[in-house]
Amino acid sequence: MRTVSHWINGKPVEDGVQRHPVTDPATDTIVAEVWLAGDVIADSAIDAAAAAADAWANTNMSKRAHVLFRFRDLLLANKDELAQLITTEHGKTLDDATGEIMRAAESVELACGGPALAHGITSLQTGPNIDTRSMMHPVGICLGITPFNFPVMMGLMMVSVSLAAGNTFIWKPSEQDPGASVRIAELFQEAGLPDGVLNVVHGQQDVVNRLIDDPRTQALSFVGSSDVAHILYQRTAVAGMRCQAFGGAKNHMVVMPDADLDTVADQLTSSAFGAAGQRCMAISVAVVVGDVYEQLLERLTPRAEAVRMNSGVVAGTEVGPVVSRNAQQRIQELVEAGIADGATAVVNRSREQVPGYENGYFVGPTILAGLPIDSAAYQQEIFGPVLVVLNVDTLDEAIALIKNHRYGNGASIFTNNGSAANQFTREATAGMVGVNVAIPVPVATYAVQGWKDSVYGDTGLNNASWSFYTRPKYITSRWETNAGMDFGFRPN
Ligand code: NAD
Repeated sequence: MRTVSHWINGKPVEDGVQRHPVTDPATDTIVAEVWLAGDVIADSAIDAAAAAADAWANTNMSKRAHVLFRFRDLLLANKDELAQLITTEHGKTLDDATGEIMRAAESVELACGGPALAHGITSLQTGPNIDTRSMMHPVGICLGITPFNFPVMMGLMMVSVSLAAGNTFIWKPSEQDPGASVRIAELFQEAGLPDGVLNVVHGQQDVVNRLIDDPRTQALSFVGSSDVAHILYQRTAVAGMRCQAFGGAKNHMVVMPDADLDTVADQLTSSAFGAAGQRCMAISVAVVVGDVYEQLLERLTPRAEAVRMNSGVVAGTEVGPVVSRNAQQRIQELVEAGIADGATAVVNRSREQVPGYENGYFVGPTILAGLPIDSAAYQQEIFGPVLVVLNVDTLDEAIALIKNHRYGNGASIFTNNGSAANQFTREATAGMVGVNVAIPVPVATYAVQGWKDSVYGDTGLNNASWSFYTRPKYITSRWETNAGMDFGFRPN
């Protein structure tokens, strides 16, 4: 049995309060056991990060970037092994897992530019013979708590910029698929990262609370469900830390009557059902404007029925299982609640089994048409391969649906009409908006950041996080020696 250790001060640590099973979602077999930390392990990670902090903060920025350059090459050189680990523990297809690693590499590449990106400014003559400048300091020990759905990418979105900016880091990955995180830490060591700069601790609520409550930790980046994001946002406020906490989603795609419906059906099918609907930027609601509703459903139906669902390791698989038995049951129950509330299940593969993988946590592509919007299946994030399709008369009504939803992570419009696209991009209440793009995640040189209950805190990930992972210092200097005495408080 493989054991997933913590990674503290440059070494694997096999210890903790208990061992937690990690299952292969395609087969329901235990493939590893991960050590869950208690207070002692959590404290030792903070000790290691604290001991390494000054030396890393004082390492030349370009030397820090060199470590990231080398790590980026190692990440790509080891992508097949990492993808295999992700697929075994998460269930997504090998192709999708490889895509995740390539996206993660983009965050590392962004951070390699740290020397050019994390700098202050200087202004001359801000007073008589006075100059003012700012410099960006690391904040200290940063924490990263990541979700199961991107076990490599979310961690590297946080770790890369944070390390480039001179911080030390403690990463608490999801206990559902923790294997890749420790491999990432090993690759960082191979790239030349000093011991203690990046530490990985596994655990659950108690460990997260312990890490937050220690006065030596300075910043928390969290990605996961909104309820946990909100709880941790409050806890970090009490602890006096800075926090960026990214939560759940219910991403709407508006389909205008002039859109090419075959293109829309292709894009919706891959966005809603890819990774078994477990992407935070997946489209889970299609809002059809006008009279093309039936035409779109006619195009979606055969596509959803044809999606190839199987184990993620089988060649040609388009959709693998969901992450756990709990997730499978929750999704199936929400589908049934939606039908009980009045939706028509145009396609319902939610209880379909995969021959040869009967114990796997499979949920097949499902389309709920005409779901009442007060249904839990509309109000809640399902986080599974379930697409809700609604029909409204106008673009204004479609935009109002988005506005009235609790979440505001992403939203998209498909149209050939520039005026409609313009109104939508201006008025859609979501942080990431797509025009004829079904998964509108911005490139790493921009940011990942939603609105409303999809985020607590005000700084995005990737390029927006330089300010989160640094704190400014403002220096006012005067070098003339005869300034004299003056008890007033003069204007500049
Ligand atoms: P989750 O909230 O259950 O867990 C996320 C992390 O928090 C895990 O590491 C988990 O161990 C930890 N955790 C869980 N409960 C905790 C508690 N009470 N106190 C402290 N830590 C706790 O989320 P998940 O199921 O792993 O991931 C799916 C969620 O993540 C979805 O809601 C999805 O939309 C969201 N997500 C959002 C984004 C984004 O950019 N907004 C990106 C990816 C995933």
